[in-house]
Amino acid sequence: MPNLTTIGFDADDTLWHHEKYFVATKERFSELLADRAPRGETERLLHDTEIANVGLYGFGVKSFTLSMIEAALAATGGRLPASLIGEIMTLGRAMLTHPVDPFPGVQETLEALKPAHKLLVVTRGDLVDQERKLAASGLLPFFDEIEIVSDKTEAVYERIFSRHGNGPDRAMMVGNSMRADVLPALAAGAWAVHVPSEHVWSLDLADDPTGSARFRRLPRVAEVLPLVAAIG
Ligand SMILES: [Mg+2]
Repeated sequence: MPNLTTIGFDADDTLWHHEKYFVATKERFSELLADRAPRGETERLLHDTEIANVGLYGFGVKSFTLSMIEAALAATGGRLPASLIGEIMTLGRAMLTHPVDPFPGVQETLEALKPAHKLLVVTRGDLVDQERKLAASGLLPFFDEIEIVSDKTEAVYERIFSRHGNGPDRAMMVGNSMRADVLPALAAGAWAVHVPSEHVWSLDLADDPTGSARFRRLPRVAEVLPLVAAIG
């Protein structure tokens, strides 16, 4: 039996673009309110509201849409026309229909890993939206299990890698978030590969781990293949 039996992949900004739609929507949001509140203030309010709401609403587009409305109300002292709330909701809804194109090399990598490994998706976000993106990506057939979780913690990785594999010791997590994909997976005892993305949400940032023999940083998902071969 190989040393490494189970490989988990983050979804957004690891398998396909996602954060760029948040970046563009935040830009549109600030433009919508530009006549009513200073831009820097709007951006700061949205950022703080998003962070504060994660614990209540969880991760994903629905939570973000509620945060946009809340931040717009705060930025305008509550003087926000209903038509603008409608426009903000339209911005949020558009994020639930964006195209899902896997990054180059992702499909080939999953294809190559599948015969000898159990492949998982471990993602946060809205259940319906994450399922839509997985279906639209065409990648669903490559995965043995999909885990859509409310948060990514050491305990969550421990549970997932034990339930679907041979425990964290023989598992690897691959993702673009140092805070959510790498650090808790390492803490659980798994290998963890950081694949940096073009855009990163502030809540996904964290310092590199120190002295961890099971941490790697690779420029592309495809480069997981030689690493997996080396681990055996
Ligand atoms: Mg991600």
